[in-house]
Amino acid sequence: MTTSLADPAALPPLGAWHDYDELADVQARQLPLALRRAAASPFYRRRLGPALPRDRAGLADTPLTTKQDLRDSYPFGMLAVPRNRLATYHESSGTTGVPTASYYTDGDWTDLAQRYARKWTGIGPADTFLVRTPYALMITGHLAHAAARMCGATVVPADNRTTAMPYARVVRALHDLDVTLTWSLPTEPLLWAAAARLAGLRPDRDFPSLRALFVGGEPLSRARRDRIAEIWGVPVVEEYGSTETGSLAGQCPRGRLHLWADRAIFEVYDPGTGRIGPDGCGQLVVTPLYREAMPLLRYNIEDDVEVRYESCGCGWALPTVRVLGRSASGHAVGPATVTQARLEELVFALPVRYEVMFWRASAQPHQLRVEIEVPAGHRDAACAELAAAVRAEYGIEVRVDPVEPGGLVSRDALTATADVVKPRGLFGPDEDWDRALRYY
Ligand code: AMP
Ligand code: MG
Ligand code: ZN
Repeated sequence: MTTSLADPAALPPLGAWHDYDELADVQARQLPLALRRAAASPFYRRRLGPALPRDRAGLADTPLTTKQDLRDSYPFGMLAVPRNRLATYHESSGTTGVPTASYYTDGDWTDLAQRYARKWTGIGPADTFLVRTPYALMITGHLAHAAARMCGATVVPADNRTTAMPYARVVRALHDLDVTLTWSLPTEPLLWAAAARLAGLRPDRDFPSLRALFVGGEPLSRARRDRIAEIWGVPVVEEYGSTETGSLAGQCPRGRLHLWADRAIFEVYDPGTGRIGPDGCGQLVVTPLYREAMPLLRYNIEDDVEVRYESCGCGWALPTVRVLGRSASGHAVGPATVTQARLEELVFALPVRYEVMFWRASAQPHQLRVEIEVPAGHRDAACAELAAAVRAEYGIEVRVDPVEPGGLVSRDALTATADVVKPRGLFGPDEDWDRALRYY
């Protein structure tokens, strides 16, 4: 029996299976419908024609779908339903050039919201949920918004790419509205902490309603996750996903990221050997099982990951994933290769009392240059300890310089208040009419 999204309640909930064999059954039951839907996609009809896969073995012979394929299909070359069934259209944050489009039906949205809502802390009607990721084009803001609404929470939409909501206003909202849950990049709660301190508030004491910080969108080391949790005094719950797929993995109560393998088939592609297997290190390949508007078969999301089928104390029979992202490769310094992930761990391994939250580094051919924001009282200790840690790790020449607080993240940015107006044409005698038709 296959599940149709016409009846969202029929979507199997997390934990409806007990082990990896049962998980394979869950996938096998849904795959035929997913493959039939892909047959309605102009892209797959053209690419695969009579070779459209009908079962798992057929899927294993299907070539990977690349990001370039998605770009070449802009905007609606992958649309497998009539346009009038679409609920939303999105483009990923992607850097330059031709956009990567994705689109979803109402039924797709049920699957999307349910996957996002799988937070071990729960989301409920008593929650006030601050959404601090973009709403323009990308899916992330809408995804958290829809999931929180579905769970009955009160949503505070607080986009992070708008001049209407500078950090001081976020801190005000977190405090005055008794916000209980937030969704943002992991960098954001560090910026809020700095803004809160400048507003005379202590993150771990003056926000007693806060109960968890949901984060995703960029690689997060264990050390940085633990530090954010320590600063705010609440758990940090990580999530991994993309605009083309929605949430792909979420963190369990034991702190591991598990792939939502009951909603998609995951594989790992090694670009070196061309081998595709169920686990190991390589690029993550995704075949979503519940997509209507834009079916994807073996989509290579091009993130470096490590997938393992292990047993976890949380009891979820779902593979775990470590996401290294796209910046895994690092930069050469002397004989060593320095990675952002490892540097981040060294920085956030410094004692919390040094108050180091912001850093930057430049990989020169023969020396690594690092700057950290650090208050005067901890300057010498913090720089010496970080330099020693980098030398011990990489055996390279390193120079760590202190920067006054405000040097990397300006105080102006942290204290600015919103200055957004509606456009107008008529100005008074002493007003600046160059502001005509502007929002700010
Ligand atoms: P976008 O498609 O613009 O929504 O961005 C999705 C991309 O962000 C993913 O393909 C990853 O490269 C990155 N990303 C999202 N979540 C995480 C995470 N938890 N850890 C590492 N990278 C992530
Ligand atoms: Mg993307
Ligand atoms: Zn687990």
